[in-house]
Amino acid sequence: APYQTVDVHELLDATLTMFHAKLPPGVRKVREYDRSLPPISGYAAELNQVWTNLIDNALGAMGESGTLTIRTFRDDDRIVVEIGDTGPGIPPEIRPRIFEPFFTTKPVGEGTGLGLDISYRIVVNKHHGDIRVESVPGDTRFRVCLPVEQ
Ligand code: ADP
Ligand code: MG
Repeated sequence: APYQTVDVHELLDATLTMFHAKLPPGVRKVREYDRSLPPISGYAAELNQVWTNLIDNALGAMGESGTLTIRTFRDDDRIVVEIGDTGPGIPPEIRPRIFEPFFTTKPVGEGTGLGLDISYRIVVNKHHGDIRVESVPGDTRFRVCLPVEQ
């Protein structure tokens, strides 16, 4: 299938709308969008899957209270989408394994361990982008970088 021209902010808002009913009252949602970002070429449905996986993890990590931050900015010839949460963070000892298929710390039946594996493949293999994480307790940020031109 050919790439589509996609507006990342439209995609992010569509995904956030899906989560609206699932946001606990104690979770604050903050959007910091750089509205001057150009559209990118990519696959809308697959990028929505990435935002869904990252937001699902962020909300799961925070539980009943915290702040979910969705930020966009430009970094040279890439746009960056950052999904941040104020949960407990990712312990350094499991950090190298989180993108592996079937790696999960969630109870049986709650996590498949596929969310980050699928997200990585969508971003890196299908969009020639990059996905990274920085995490300390109280401040975890997943950054998805996507090239402006494909
Ligand atoms: P699943 O959500 O089914 O466990 P994922 O591939 O989405 O699988 O995530 C793998 C693991 O990475 C999670 O089980 C969790 O240990 C860790 N993780 C991912 N996102 C976060 C986050 N925002 N905060 C803390 N841990 C996280
Ligand atoms: Mg997940």
